[in-house]
Amino acid sequence: MSANVRTLLEALPYIREFHGRTVVIKYGGAAMRDEELREGFATDVVLLKYVGLNPVIVHGGGPDITSYMERLGMEVRFVEGVRVSDPETVEVAKMVLLGKVNSDIVSRLNRHGQPAVGLSGEDGTLFEVRPHPNADQVGFVGEVDRVDVNVLTHIAEDYIPVVASAGTDREGNSYNVNADAAAGKVAAALRAYKAIFLTDVPGWLADPDDPGSLVTRATVSEVATALGEVEGGMRPKLGACIEAIGGGVQSAHIIDGSKPHSLLLELFTDAGIGTMVIPS
Ligand code: ADP
Ligand code: MG
Repeated sequence: MSANVRTLLEALPYIREFHGRTVVIKYGGAAMRDEELREGFATDVVLLKYVGLNPVIVHGGGPDITSYMERLGMEVRFVEGVRVSDPETVEVAKMVLLGKVNSDIVSRLNRHGQPAVGLSGEDGTLFEVRPHPNADQVGFVGEVDRVDVNVLTHIAEDYIPVVASAGTDREGNSYNVNADAAAGKVAAALRAYKAIFLTDVPGWLADPDDPGSLVTRATVSEVATALGEVEGGMRPKLGACIEAIGGGVQSAHIIDGSKPHSLLLELFTDAGIGTMVIPS
């Protein structure tokens, strides 16, 4: 049997298992890095839709926000991995996330044959946001307090929803929202089958300096126990995995989006890649 045929046959049970299932995919900095990766991501997501899955994309775009702020001569500052956000920063972040990153993803998906609709937390009151606990230091950074999935389920009937992680509070103030945390909330609210976080490392590393220390499988309680020690961008991802599983998601995966077609490898091959978080 040729290797190609074997690969297709290997995918069959997964295609059957995932048919009609909702998968929330967090798409971030690393997997957006170059043109080839952006195209690869779009073709993968379109393929998922064609084989009967229901993909929902939640994205950030930190590096693009930083580069536009620099172009505008604005000061870029982080406190414990969180972008310090005055109202002007939030304005630029929203413009970049929606006007550039979101519309780029949407147009690629459209071009590859599956129509997509872009929205942010404000559309259809998708997210209600409350200020971050460190608001006095970080400014208008928000946490998603409540997700109203109505708008998503409507859109997902016919289109691929692409959600930019920004939202407003009850008074109408805009906030920057961590896209991992937003994706975890969305996955839980949709009771998705899987939540997949694309990043630029092989997964959760027991020792962040040792790429060989990948944790391939962990239960939510193991993740919760370790969370206090985890730093940087991995922390909100693991927090989001806990949130998703707590909301009834069957498994959450952190995978290396800087490897081409990592999404397909994770979903449709026996090997699986990255870190898988499971209920118990
Ligand atoms: P993304 O755009 O995917 O959200 P982030 O930079 O926010 O990217 O998060 C991923 C980063 O988290 C990695 O590049 C790595 O530097 C950092 N990190 C910190 N601790 C760990 C860990 N224990 N395992 C893996 N990555 C870690
Ligand atoms: Mg991040």
